[in-house]
Amino acid sequence: MPARRLDGAALAARIRTELGPRVAAFTAARGRPPALGVVLAGQRPESEIYVRNKLKAVAEAGCRADLIRIDEQASLHEALATVERLNADATLDAILVQSPLPPGMGEDAEQRLFDAIDPAKDVDGFHPDNVGRLVQNRPHLVACTPLGCIELLEREQIPLRGKQAVVIGRSDIVGKPMALLLLHRDATVTVCHSRTVDLPRLAATADVLVAAVGRPGFVTAEFVKPGATVIDVGINVVTEQADARRLFPPGSAKRRAFEQKGSVLVGDVHPEVEEIAGALTPVPGGVGPLTIAMVLRNTITAAEARS
Ligand code: NAP
Repeated sequence: MPARRLDGAALAARIRTELGPRVAAFTAARGRPPALGVVLAGQRPESEIYVRNKLKAVAEAGCRADLIRIDEQASLHEALATVERLNADATLDAILVQSPLPPGMGEDAEQRLFDAIDPAKDVDGFHPDNVGRLVQNRPHLVACTPLGCIELLEREQIPLRGKQAVVIGRSDIVGKPMALLLLHRDATVTVCHSRTVDLPRLAATADVLVAAVGRPGFVTAEFVKPGATVIDVGINVVTEQADARRLFPPGSAKRRAFEQKGSVLVGDVHPEVEEIAGALTPVPGGVGPLTIAMVLRNTITAAEARS
């Protein structure tokens, strides 16, 4: 039987509706809506799309959404000055610096900029103060992608307490906060990465498996215990014929889309997993929309906490 589809897009729409009264109450009390500033350095096409979607969702919810562009050639010093200016702006509640940054800003630019954001305005939850609060299970602003994943698991009533959870990926943005959120809900958590030995066997112990790897169709059937819940965080653009053949059977919708457009979007989970998992997030339409809904929710949370 095919896995139950965990519809992130539908849940994101519900969450946006639920947040309406909070936006209205804040706006009525303060005489202005909650406000988010998104800093975008350079003009990377994927980043343009992500930023546009975030700003649109926040604006459509009745909040203020500002785009602050920084030139591709700008120095880290200039970017830091921009963040400082936004920190000091009393009418701005939340700040997000879109990653990745242009390579010219230097290797540690991302960390330096995330560290510079006022933790009270840190909508992405990347500042060490917010990470520390999450580690201590007294979260305030938590990274939006793992927050969206946990929201989905809870709303879909997927049991976590006492369950085995395996997270593939240990990035600061997804894997580590995801593991902490699961741990704080009493799951027994294993975090896997590129040096993990016998990864398929470990993954197949999971009741809840989260794939945040960045490799198309990496999680194949052998990684998945029958009936497990699988959360596919990956967003990968497949452009190679060989990858399309490996992932999609002839005549399938995705194979046809690939043949027409020369590219197709796929997660980290191989489509064959649909026949084994108990529940599965689609790509697109799974974790992506929830990430955006959590940007909105964190913007409102930051605004309310500052008032
Ligand atoms: P990342 O920083 O590149 O981290 C990838 C992780 O996967 C690393 O921990 C890496 O291990 C691990 N990994 C790579 N190859 C592996 C292998 N062969 N076996 C086991 N582990 C392996 O990526 P990220 O920022 O966490 O993002 C992961 C994916 O999620 C990407 O596709 C990204 O586009 C997507 N994403 C989606 C959303 C959304 O809203 N849906 C948001 C953020 C990210 P090491 O640490 O050992 O290198």
